Amino acid sequence: MLETASQHQLHSALKTYFGYDTFRGQQQEIIENVLQKKDTLVIMPTGGGKSICFQIPAVVLEGLTLVISPLIALMKDQVDGLNANGIKASFYNSSQTSQEQQSIIEKVITKEIKLLYVAPESLSGLENLVNEKYISCVAIDEAHCISSWGHDFRPSYQQLGFLKKRLPNTPIIALTATADKATRQDIVEQLQMPDADQFISSFDRKNIELEVRPADARAKQIVSFIKKHPGQSGIVYCLSRKNTEQIAKKLNDNGINSDCYHAGLSFDDRTRVQEDFIFDKTQVVCATVAFGMGIDKSNVRWVIHHNMPKNIEGYYQEIGRSGRDGLKAKAVLFHSYADVIQLRKFATGATNEDVQIAKLERMKQFSEATTCRRKILLSYFGELLAENCGNCDVCKNPPKFFDGTVIAQKILSTITRVEQQEATGTIIDVLRGANNANVLEKGLNRVKTFGIGHDISWKDWQQYIIQLINQGICEIAFHKNNTLQLTDFSEKVLFKGLKVYLTYPVHINEKAKTPAAVKTKAVNSNSLFERLRKLRYRISLEENLPAYLIFNDATLKEMERVRPMSESEFLSISGVGQRKMEVYGDEFIAEILDFIGSKVKKPKKTDTHLVTYELYKSGLSIEEISLQRKLKAPTVYSHIAKLYSDGKAINIYDFVSKSDVEAVHQAKIELDSPKTLKDYFDYFNEQMDYFKIRLALSVIDKDD
Ligand code: ADP
Ligand code: ZN
Repeated sequence: MLETASQHQLHSALKTYFGYDTFRGQQQEIIENVLQKKDTLVIMPTGGGKSICFQIPAVVLEGLTLVISPLIALMKDQVDGLNANGIKASFYNSSQTSQEQQSIIEKVITKEIKLLYVAPESLSGLENLVNEKYISCVAIDEAHCISSWGHDFRPSYQQLGFLKKRLPNTPIIALTATADKATRQDIVEQLQMPDADQFISSFDRKNIELEVRPADARAKQIVSFIKKHPGQSGIVYCLSRKNTEQIAKKLNDNGINSDCYHAGLSFDDRTRVQEDFIFDKTQVVCATVAFGMGIDKSNVRWVIHHNMPKNIEGYYQEIGRSGRDGLKAKAVLFHSYADVIQLRKFATGATNEDVQIAKLERMKQFSEATTCRRKILLSYFGELLAENCGNCDVCKNPPKFFDGTVIAQKILSTITRVEQQEATGTIIDVLRGANNANVLEKGLNRVKTFGIGHDISWKDWQQYIIQLINQGICEIAFHKNNTLQLTDFSEKVLFKGLKVYLTYPVHINEKAKTPAAVKTKAVNSNSLFERLRKLRYRISLEENLPAYLIFNDATLKEMERVRPMSESEFLSISGVGQRKMEVYGDEFIAEILDFIGSKVKKPKKTDTHLVTYELYKSGLSIEEISLQRKLKAPTVYSHIAKLYSDGKAINIYDFVSKSDVEAVHQAKIELDSPKTLKDYFDYFNEQMDYFKIRLALSVIDKDD
């Protein structure tokens, strides 16, 4: 049990600073462990909520929490996010002048800040501060960087062992999303915390829907996918710079605001692209894998892989950048054999060629799976899923098998007749009887099977061949120009009656669905959510703070559902803490009231105010009406205002005083009939309730 801080204290900190009511997963146990001064290793997937595991201890503990973080680019956003939540934090790195650095050191000494983010390279500048007099906790973010096993190894992380020596009684919490055992072992050894308690969360990201599609007409498919998800942020990962540029252009040509990002751009350009994306100014970024390391943006709604990633770790990390807010997200991977061949080429000759090729093979198996994809993914990370996930394309649309023996025989006999000298494309050309130069030059039009498969499309033949390869019925010789070869199974299929079961090829018919889908979405652009999103965007520009740091999408969704109309209701929304309520509450409440107001005026809307009128006439008070109708009091007041405007018999001065009406009238004249209630609210220095302003206006407008 906790001695240092009570459970109540933790929950209260969670709500006050972060606006959340409950801890997620193992967060609370982790925090309690740290507060008991125990070293802690946290393995949690991206978006799992690692930050809170050291940020809550930081606000509860007496001194400073030192956060080691590898990415200078990320520090600013993290610190801005903390400050927006009312937590004093700073960062210390090489991007700052020595004056700025000095002032930060002073803030630590005077205990003005609770968290300090520092890059490992810059730690030496804080020599005098690494002392238990100042520091209560050390957090090591992206801790896998310490291990040369990991994929992001950083030599500067390897000196961090000195922290334990210098701060023997201070708890260290190391966090990472990379799970494997070797890396874990390395982390605890190098940080000199062999007895650290380990908290390993499930790797499952249930909210991300998985889908794999065959790679035909990729650009077209991508355009229609995005059009079906208007306004949603997303990333398209490509293998080459050229691809990123081509796709970005195609998207822009189709009216989708997008940018490309790759290592060939200047540092400034890359920074700009990243910032615009974070600020929701750019909807889509087409990027090589380098993009995303520095991105904490929680409202990335989808990730598309234009090309196949080279291993499952990379794939999982990249799709993990979507749906961090826990709302639904989509991951679409285009599977192409050409990519597999290309990636094999890259791997060939590398020092760890075998490992790379084995990893690529697992990636390929995932892409070609005919069973639940999430099961395959999680099993790769050593986690077993008992049930099928229900949120992948295979679960949603299980493949239908049919007897494909004849199809297989046609393919195998063509391979035999071209003496195993041709690659997939030529085999298909022969099957379909194509009279192209390649076929004619080699005299393949004289092969006996020439044209026996003209009734099946090129793409479908391709998918059937891939299925045969997956079943080991034929194979690709990567070292012999990717020619198709026979295997032991081939003979059994050709001559010994072995049956082959194939699945029907997948045809993505985006087009048919598109128009209707776009239409419904277009109507939704007037939704309360869209209005709140626009307001958030405006504030984000004014304050130069990324939109997702103001409120994440999950919080806006809840506002849309609950429609908070008072401060206390607003504070009850998940993701609204004390400071954000104080700073942003009024504007968001005003937007919601405005939205409700404009809805009520719509003729088709049920005449809900008339129901209120009946209750009013029967003598009920506002509280009684709101209780009975399960409406918030401000809504009932807005009904009263409307009823009065409509000329119904309402004793309006029971609800608003004459002097208030006069004051509002005065404001109206001085402000020259402003558009929003918020303008009045500001005019009265937030001292007059919204509902009173609304009631007063109904009197004034009627008198006019
Ligand atoms: P990670 O660092 O593990 O990738 P973050 O710490 O950035 O994840 O958290 C991901 C998202 O989840 C953030 O938007 C964060 O505010 C939100 N979050 C974290 N903890 C909770 C919680 N207890 N309840 C609701 N949302 C949470
Ligand atoms: Zn599944």
